[in-house]
Amino acid sequence: MKIDWTKKGRAMHKQAMALATILVSALLMTQPAEAGSVKRIEARGSQITVSFDDLVQGASTFSLVGPDRIAIDILGGKAGRGGYATGIVKSVRQGQYSPDTARIVFDLDRPAVITNGSFSDDGKSLKLSLQAVGQNRIAAGRKSFLPPVKFRAEPPKKSYSVKMPLGKPRDSVDLPKIYGPNDANRPLVVIDAGHGGHDPGTVSPHGGKYEKNVVLAIARALRDRLVASGQVRVALTRDTDKFLVLEERYGIARRLDADLFISIHADAAGNQNASGATVYTLSEVASDREAAKLAARENRANIINGVNLGGANHDVSSILIDLTQRETLNVSADFAKLLIREGQRKMNFRTNPHRFASLVVLKAPDTPSVLFESGYLSNKEDVAFLSSSQGRSKIASGMASAIESHFARKLARR
Ligand code: ZN
Repeated sequence: MKIDWTKKGRAMHKQAMALATILVSALLMTQPAEAGSVKRIEARGSQITVSFDDLVQGASTFSLVGPDRIAIDILGGKAGRGGYATGIVKSVRQGQYSPDTARIVFDLDRPAVITNGSFSDDGKSLKLSLQAVGQNRIAAGRKSFLPPVKFRAEPPKKSYSVKMPLGKPRDSVDLPKIYGPNDANRPLVVIDAGHGGHDPGTVSPHGGKYEKNVVLAIARALRDRLVASGQVRVALTRDTDKFLVLEERYGIARRLDADLFISIHADAAGNQNASGATVYTLSEVASDREAAKLAARENRANIINGVNLGGANHDVSSILIDLTQRETLNVSADFAKLLIREGQRKMNFRTNPHRFASLVVLKAPDTPSVLFESGYLSNKEDVAFLSSSQGRSKIASGMASAIESHFARKLARR
């Protein structure tokens, strides 16, 4: 059974987005309502019932594999505790995923999907039907359910989006706009601003700057710089404050058939004197303890409330590198050296700036990829540099010359 609610899900997504627009407009006029708390969860046989003590705004479900789980996000809901489970569902967990979303996770004893569901007439309970399916039949994407309009809690008074492109890394994420020359033969660079949405990344102790915002500004500056010189095409994995799981980031590069993938981050260290940029390429073996720790930190972006959003059943600290990746790794390493050479004219790098780490975001087997740690948000000078427009334009110009030389070299070798 190839479940067609991926398509429906898209339609629902559109509905939800339209609704979101209405809700967001309504926000400005309405007072916040109390969120409904999850009162009771019962999973019996193939039926799941979630009851609330008050109105909620809506719910969406998605599947995760390895181990098999189903997650339900209750928008405008407060998490309660535990739940009763028998049948396909082995156990139930819940937690507050964000201030206005409760997440319930059902651990399954075999692969299953939600086939349908609805809210009760008074909007205070949600019934869902589960169906066991084959191992490879877990569809990607979310399924959304809304209570009857009359019985829908008002959204809390803050800006948010009803749905985020979250969940299994699949083709469900829309492909970004490609900037630059309208010529498919031009090399394509995908720039990935790390973190985003509910994941701020590192927070600077100097002025509270968020990594997600600092790196997005750098990514945009780099895009603009590359577009201005017109040598290559460019796309950003995100151009807004949204969350993507790590696999979705390199997945975008693969789906666009990119020639180079650069993930931009900023680091933090206990030692506030630590400063300068580092370029990481993928390796099973970290070059030093610090690189291993960095990988653990950056890879954690996929894990929220114990739910691995990447869905992969691997230990993220250990990545097996396929033989087919060797060539890609060599090209990545060459680019890393070039990035350091060109970058050093414009900004500070650390000693031994090329390091190796098992970073999930660099795992695309066929796209040369580097992770650029642009500096330390824990260091006063670095924060000032990274978050100033002069700093950004220096970084962008160093990176752009590295990118342009990289492709010029490739072209010359042909
Ligand atoms: Zn980061």
